[in-house]
Amino acid sequence: MMVFEAMRMKEHEQVVYCYDRASGLKAIIAIHNTILGPALGGCRMLAYENEEKALLDALRLSRGMTYKSAAAGLNLGGGKAVIIGDAKSMKSEILFRSFGRFVESMAGRYITAEDVGTTVKEMEWVRMETDHVVGISRAFGGSGDPSPVTAFGVYHGMRAALKKVFGSDSLKGRTIALQGVGQVGFYLIGHLLSAEAKVIATDIDDERIKRAAREYEAITFVGPEEIYDVDCDIFAPCALGGTVNPKTIPRLRCRIVAGSANNVLENEDVDQPLLEQRGILYIPDYVISSGGLINVSNELQGYNRKQALTQAAGIFDIIEQLLKIAESEKVTTLKAANALAERRIAAIAELQRTKIGGALKVRR
Ligand code: NAD
Repeated sequence: MMVFEAMRMKEHEQVVYCYDRASGLKAIIAIHNTILGPALGGCRMLAYENEEKALLDALRLSRGMTYKSAAAGLNLGGGKAVIIGDAKSMKSEILFRSFGRFVESMAGRYITAEDVGTTVKEMEWVRMETDHVVGISRAFGGSGDPSPVTAFGVYHGMRAALKKVFGSDSLKGRTIALQGVGQVGFYLIGHLLSAEAKVIATDIDDERIKRAAREYEAITFVGPEEIYDVDCDIFAPCALGGTVNPKTIPRLRCRIVAGSANNVLENEDVDQPLLEQRGILYIPDYVISSGGLINVSNELQGYNRKQALTQAAGIFDIIEQLLKIAESEKVTTLKAANALAERRIAAIAELQRTKIGGALKVRR
């Protein structure tokens, strides 16, 4: 595979191959764009079939981070690291400290965090070698579990969607069909019930259902397959990706799809037009779930939960903005979200080129 060609296609800035014989580390760090600030993105550990798949994943995910940070209004660029290896058997202090040294060598251009296959524990090893890591536990001054902040952002995103569809952002009396009462789903229920919404939920894990039922008496449960047929205002996917697809869309009886699950549309080119045909408003997952990113990025200034929550509440305004673009330019909400991110990056790039009397220095 031609690496420069792959970089040219989606305009990546840099790809770093990291190899360390002593620890067995094989990692790739991809930096997509640093116009807004240092490239932040998690470190994924997976037993990739081959190096090309690892590189493609790093390129794809780092670009996704550029859009997510830009749309969330953060002064961060997009990056991602992948460690090639089995996350169950190959993790060690030396491996992650070795990775941390490579991160350190990038002098702050790349900031890492946990991702699929890595946890807070490994990030603490990384932190022994570099300060350019976020997603550290509260005990070490980090931001800890991002789920409460993600859930708070999703709640505010739902309010913006309701305002667009019904003319009022109130959740009072609205019915939410919630798929997945895991970390995010669990905290989201609390906000929905406080706002006097009705919650009908499902999960495939009995323990998760019992925990939610113990905490929140007011919710009702249906089976994992029945959730698609629930008569509701918002279908909220908070489980895995791909659950909104040509098989499930005809069954949905909602006006809005808005939830935290990543890559919730199985195929955006097919699924978003199908949703539109049915008059269902789709709120792009990467925007409504950006509370988690907002939360970890807050560590860079010294973590403050109140500030992270306030910033996550701003997802309401971001979604209002993208809905305006979608309406005025007659594009899908996903295209509008991408446009919002791209325009912000272009505007800041322009600002960086502009010298006002040669005296103004743009601060990151
Ligand atoms: P989680 O694993 O804690 O919860 C997911 C829940 O979904 C689990 O309880 C699981 O049993 C359930 N589930 C899985 N398949 C299901 C199905 N077919 N039907 C019903 N329930 C099913 O994960 P989480 O941290 O709550 O994240 C949920 C989603 O949000 C994921 O897609 C995640 O990538 C995304 N997300 C999470 C955060 C965060 O801060 N945790 C941030 C951004 C995006």
